[in-house]
Amino acid sequence: MKLRAAILILSNTGFLDAWFPSLRPIRSFSQLREATSVDNKPYLNPLIDSIQPSKTVEIFSQVKDMEANGIQVTSLCVGEPDFLPAPAVLDALAEAVKAGDTRYTAVTGTLALRKAIAADLQRRKGVKYNPANEIVVGNGAKQSVYQALLATSGVGDSVIIPAPYWPSYPEMVSLAGSTSVIVETKAETGYLMTAEQLRKALNENPTTKLIILCNPSNPTGGVYSKEQLAELCDVLQDYPQVKVLADEIYERLVYDIDECPSVASMPGMFSRTMTVNGFSKAHAMTGLRLGYVAAPAPIARAITTIQSQLTSCASSLSQAGGVAALEKVSDEEIESNVQLLKQKRDYVLAELSTMPGVKVAVPPQGAFYVLPDFSYYGDDDTQLCLDLLQEQKLALVPGSSFGAPGTIRISYATSLEELAVAMTKLRTFLEVRQK
Ligand code: PMP
Repeated sequence: MKLRAAILILSNTGFLDAWFPSLRPIRSFSQLREATSVDNKPYLNPLIDSIQPSKTVEIFSQVKDMEANGIQVTSLCVGEPDFLPAPAVLDALAEAVKAGDTRYTAVTGTLALRKAIAADLQRRKGVKYNPANEIVVGNGAKQSVYQALLATSGVGDSVIIPAPYWPSYPEMVSLAGSTSVIVETKAETGYLMTAEQLRKALNENPTTKLIILCNPSNPTGGVYSKEQLAELCDVLQDYPQVKVLADEIYERLVYDIDECPSVASMPGMFSRTMTVNGFSKAHAMTGLRLGYVAAPAPIARAITTIQSQLTSCASSLSQAGGVAALEKVSDEEIESNVQLLKQKRDYVLAELSTMPGVKVAVPPQGAFYVLPDFSYYGDDDTQLCLDLLQEQKLALVPGSSFGAPGTIRISYATSLEELAVAMTKLRTFLEVRQK
């Protein structure tokens, strides 16, 4: 660390006529504040330096600049479905507005929503949570992940994250003062962490308190089967101090398989699992900011304490929409959106399979992303994405943002027409680069 000394000379004409630091006269408080801050930068929490700005920001800011200059960009960057929430959800929101349902709710959410969540988890996953004290509704799954992490891992602790990962995980771990242990998975194993890899990581990192499992995965679309999860859970029996943060926000969006298994339902796992889910993906309620964590009472209590000091509660209106999403939207309605997404996935996979040098080792079985390997076209996936944006006006996210250099993430949750435009642009871009 650099230590800097400075002299502040107060002249007899008064405090505001001081000289600092290279004998410049200071005549106002703002000049004084500016002159006394190191390199004119404000003091910031040192944690900020441990957090990476997102590489996607680089792409996004260029997209915004281009759009501001009237250039039309095809963007397959966002993790957001292109369909609307179900009519029952929109009606419930409108009714809540009309009823003046605008007050703070309980920190953990309305009892109606917690009961609906508990019933949903029991019906579809076979796990029994007490709505009174084992469910904490938050402002989106993102907040729920962060609070779950803060509650169970702190300074000196380690958190195992399989790569490729959702970019927020390692940054949230740093914000909690903990250390990420990144376990590199392989394309050939569907980018899923194996039991051997987990055991090795746990043995090499005895300070591990938590594992984050994103199932289905953003960005790979990989889904752990019940057998694969059981193998990981078997390993965990030898490490009772380690909990699992199961981010299951994409669990209803699965293809070619009946369902996505839930970690909390595996034998012996309930007491050490925090299940995060939300309404942004299957219910397309992204802007309503609604998610939750379900966890055994002592952990849920700790999360509630954190939330009580951060945001008090999720929006009362969104919570009314959440009750409708769980109680009034049928499985068939969700399934019809899943079928549309499957059609888009199949289209993108078919297109990619005819592009030389582009490899999709294992077709994604869930979420709405595919993460093909583009390393045939060079090592720098960020540069490849920047070139693609400049030359073809197509925005995709570089895989290095997800801890997967050499790959590029494509989100296919958009219209088939836009996907067709995007695939043509990608093909044209790659054609000129073929070796
Ligand atoms: N987890 C994962 C893996 C995600 O992809 C996202 C959204 N991109 C979230 C959590 C957060 O979702 P939200 O805050 O919108 O509920």
